[in-house]
Formats: sequence, C-alpha cells, structure tokens
Amino acid sequence: MLDNAFDPMPVILIVDDQPGDIRVLQESVGDLARVHVASDGIMALEVARFCRPDLVLLDIHMPGLSGFEICRLMKADPKLCDAAILFVTAHVQPENEVQALDYGGVDFIQKPLSIPVVRAHVRAHLTLRAEAKRLAYFDALTGLPNRMLLRDRAEQMLQKARRSGGCVAFLLLDLDNFKGINDSFGHSMGDLVLKEIGKRLSDSSRSVDTVSRQGGDEFVILMPEVQHSEVVGDCVERLLEVISCPVSISGTRHDLSACIGISVFPDDGDDLESLYSHADAAMYQAKQQGRNRYRFFSQSIESNARARHLLEQHMRRALEHGVFEVFYQLKFNARSRQPCGMEALIRWRRREGDLVSPAEFIPLAEETGLIVPIGRQVLHQACCDAKALLDRGLRLCVGVNISAVQFREESFLDMVMDILRDSGLPPELLELEITEGVLAHDIEAARALLDELKRVGVRIAIDDFGTGYSSLTYLKRLPIDVLKIDQSFVRDMLTDRSDAAIIEAIVRMGQALGLELVAEGVELSEQVQSLLAMGCELMQGYLYCRPMPFAQLLDGIDSGSVPLQHNGEGN
Ligand code: C2E
Ligand code: CA
Ligand code: CA
Repeated sequence: MLDNAFDPMPVILIVDDQPGDIRVLQESVGDLARVHVASDGIMALEVARFCRPDLVLLDIHMPGLSGFEICRLMKADPKLCDAAILFVTAHVQPENEVQALDYGGVDFIQKPLSIPVVRAHVRAHLTLRAEAKRLAYFDALTGLPNRMLLRDRAEQMLQKARRSGGCVAFLLLDLDNFKGINDSFGHSMGDLVLKEIGKRLSDSSRSVDTVSRQGGDEFVILMPEVQHSEVVGDCVERLLEVISCPVSISGTRHDLSACIGISVFPDDGDDLESLYSHADAAMYQAKQQGRNRYRFFSQSIESNARARHLLEQHMRRALEHGVFEVFYQLKFNARSRQPCGMEALIRWRRREGDLVSPAEFIPLAEETGLIVPIGRQVLHQACCDAKALLDRGLRLCVGVNISAVQFREESFLDMVMDILRDSGLPPELLELEITEGVLAHDIEAARALLDELKRVGVRIAIDDFGTGYSSLTYLKRLPIDVLKIDQSFVRDMLTDRSDAAIIEAIVRMGQALGLELVAEGVELSEQVQSLLAMGCELMQGYLYCRPMPFAQLLDGIDSGSVPLQHNGEGN
C-alpha cells in the first residue's frame, strides 16, 4: 500500500473503452502524474496491481466488467483499496451517481469531457491524497518520515540488499538530556529543540538515507548500501558532533548530546524487528557508559540484555513471593559505646539460600521502576520492626534508604504517612536516607517534599555525603538532620591525607550547621580514634556490627551481646 509513498510523482490509471475519451483524459492529466491506461476491466485490475495508482479515472459503461464491478473488486483488494476512484460517465441519472459513491468512488466526472474540468477534479483529489499521505507517513512535528514510512522504506532497502548482497545500517538515536529541557522550559521549547535536531540529522545524512522520528526524542536512521562498519562509525561520529553544537532558541542555549545504538543487516538481524531490538540493546549499553556515545551491537550485548531481562523477571517473582528480607545494621555512639540507631538494608535470599547484595539488583530495580514496590516493602518492614523494638522498650531510630525514583513518585509522602499509621511507629523514629543526587535534580520540588516530611516529624539524612553534587547551598536551605560521611573517605582516611581532610571539612561544616554526623564503613579502631578527634562521634561499620536479620538482632539484645539501654535510661 505504501509502495509509492516515497515517489513524489503520483500515479493515475485511466480505464475507458473509448479511444477518444482516453485521449482527452490523457491530455488533461498527463503532466500531473504518471499515467497508465486500460481499455477493459480485466486489464484495469492487472495494470492496477502492477502500477498501484493513487487515483483511477473509471468509465462506468464498458463491455465486460462495468465500472461499478471494477470499483467493487478494487475496494476488496487490500493492495488497491487505497486508490481514489473517480467515475467518468455520459449518463446523468442520480441513481448512477448515488451508486458510484456507494461503491466507494469519491467523485463523478461528466462526459462529454472538458479538459479544464477534468484537470480541476483530478488536481483537487491529488492534493487531498498528498495531504493524507503526509499525515499518515510523516511526523507532524519534524516533517520527517514516521514509523509507518520507516517500516516501508526498511522493507524496500532490506529487499534490495538481499538481492544485491549489500548491507543496511540501522541507527537508533536517543537524546541524552531531553527530559530536562521539557521539564525546565516546557513542552513547546522541547518541540522546537526536536525540530532543530531533526533538521540537523537530515541535513547531515546522505540522500539515500532515511531519517525518521519514532516519537519522543527517539530517531531512527536507515543507511542502505554501506560497505564497511568504519563508514557507519564515521557517519555516527559526525551525527553526534552535529547534535552537540549548541541549540539557541529565543535567547536560550541548550547543549545536547545523544547516544546511538547500531545494528547492521544482515549480520545483526534480517528483519526490521530484530534490527530494532538489537540497536536498542546497543543503545542501552551506550547509555550505561554515559552521554554522547555510540555502540555497535554485539553478541555480548545480547547476552547481557538477556541476563538483565532474566534478573528483572526474577526480581518481579521475588517481590510477589515476598522473598526480599530486611537486615539491620546498628549505628553506635563511639564515646558511650551505645547503639544510637540502625539502618535497614535489603537482602534477597535466593532459593539456594545465598544472599544477593543490593548493589547487584537495586540499579535494575530503579530502572524498571520495581524499586517503588520493593522500597515500599522495605519501609513497611523497617517501621514494623522498629515499632516491635519500641514495644519491648527499645527506642531506636531506623534509617531507610530511599532511591531517587521513589522520592519522585507523586504518592511518596502519602505512602510514608500510610506506613507510619499502619505500623504505629512514631515519625521521629524514622529517618529517610537520600543521596545528594536526589536533591540536585529539582531542588524546589525536593524542598517542598522535605518540608512536608519534616512537618510530620520524620528525620532526613543525606547518604554517601561528599560523593555527589556537593552543592553546599542546599544544606542550608533544606531541613536536613544528618550527614552520613561516605565510606570511601573513611576507608582511606588513615593513609590518604586528602580523605582525612575532606572528613574534617565535612565535620566542621556539619557542626556549624547543627547537623548530626555519622561516619560509615568504620572497620578499624584507629579510624574511631581519628574520627573522634575530628569531632564525629556516631559510627556505623563492621567494627561495631554487621548487618543482620531482625531475629538475630533480637537474639543479640536478649542475650546481652548487643549492649542496649532501655527506654528512659537515656544514652
Ligand atoms: P548504603 O546506603 O551506603 O549502605 C551501607 C552499605 O555499606 C551496606 O551495604 C552495608 O552493608 C555496608 N557496610 C556497612 N558497614 C561497612 C563496613 O564497615 N565496611 C564495608 N566495606 N561496608 C560496610 P549493602 O547492604 O550491600 O547496601 C549497598 C547499598 O545498596 C546501600 O548503600 C544502599 O545504597 C543500597 N540499598 C540497600 N538497601 C536498600 C533499600 O532498601 N532501598 C534502596 N533504595 N537502596 C538500598
Ligand atoms: Ca544508606
Ligand atoms: Ca551510605
């Protein structure tokens, strides 16, 4: 149906048994289209299947098949049903006209024929069709071919390459920072940026290439007749360069970049679907490595993608079957040697009994959004366990890690409130640990949410402090209670002067702002001494306590191996 979607010259089929009429019709439309002629019904259907007309000028009264019958047959043929049919006849009864339209004709031209009249009718219908084609096959925003036309062109290119033994490169391009533009400047600005990028991409491609927009900020470029992958690499580098030139729109400068995944026919796939999914996997790899990059598809990418898919499936099942567990690691006051709180840390127990570290599955859980239900489960469990301790007279604040994805969920605040209510835990015994990156993303939104949490009475800790964006202004402007000094500084503080200096600076600043300071990853008593000397008293680390299941924590408390003062005795 789209065979001539990329041929600018429309095709007209004239069907008439009168040579005189054929001549007039030909003369009327000869310069408007490529014209084919048939003098009876059988021939008309044959020629139509071969030339795929945009428009058919169809005489009604002919020996053999009548115009109506030909029209009916064409409308029933999926390859021909798209053609616009204009009936041509000397008979003027209204029933004729009605019947013609009923059969799917779009217009009616009266004999004897007048050249200007025929031209006017045909022109009007060709314009309509061109417009309909544009809407159906081109992206309204950028004017580039859309998904439909891409599919058609890909089929043509692949067919040709199969015959000639050539290669076709499939490039999937995704802008890196586009959502940020939409969020900060609005969608109309985003649209202008996409338009400009579309223009740049098509300006810097060869005329045989197809640049199409798939939707959003995703573009596909098809490159037929590529000899070597080096040629593709060169083109891709040029495209990345072109995108990275600043885009200026109404006085605002945008610096963009993109990642591109590439698959090549016939090595990486022999149809559009497999080329697409392999280019997609390669693009994912490129994104993983950062911005402004490209990757060719490879077998290792494929096995990687499969492994991720498998992990995701396992994670979903684990969530359904409730096999995620929450471990707790106590935090201590190094001076009093008393626990001053605990951190909830998720664990995944595999069927074989071994534990999977969160570092292995949290990133994928964040990407797939599974972190939202998983995080809810952890928060719920942590609050219930802290409440159980409180009921035994042990007042310990529980820290729960909150990922950026959860924090940005609209329902986050409601979820926290619901869980606090359900569990009965006093809000001041819950501490949410967030990283600096969460705040840097949209500080105003973060502030509004933190203010609400503060109002409820929940405590806020900045996790892994010192590794993130370290824009210190937010520390003053946000209602933060605790800084957790990242373990990488603590690990090397005894041997690396600059790590020690960073800790010292963080401690001073924390003290000046009245924040509580916790050192993470404390493993050695020398680290304790040094941290105490700097003024940091609260510590978390293997030296004091490893993360353990709740039951084990309870055993430790009961047996006295975990030194705990009970409520009211202070600490
Ligand atoms: P984190 O929030 O920085 O948690 C501290 C990590 O350091 C934990 O690793 C803990 O077991 C480990 N650790 C504690 N003391 C020491 C020590 O003395 N030496 C060393 N080398 N490590 C120590 P874990 O449990 O593997 O968790 C890793 C990360 O996974 C966490 O880092 C946190 O970012 C994330 N995570 C854990 N649980 C959750 C969760 O429920 N939700 C979310 N969103 N993230 C979680
Ligand atoms: Ca943490
Ligand atoms: Ca941390």
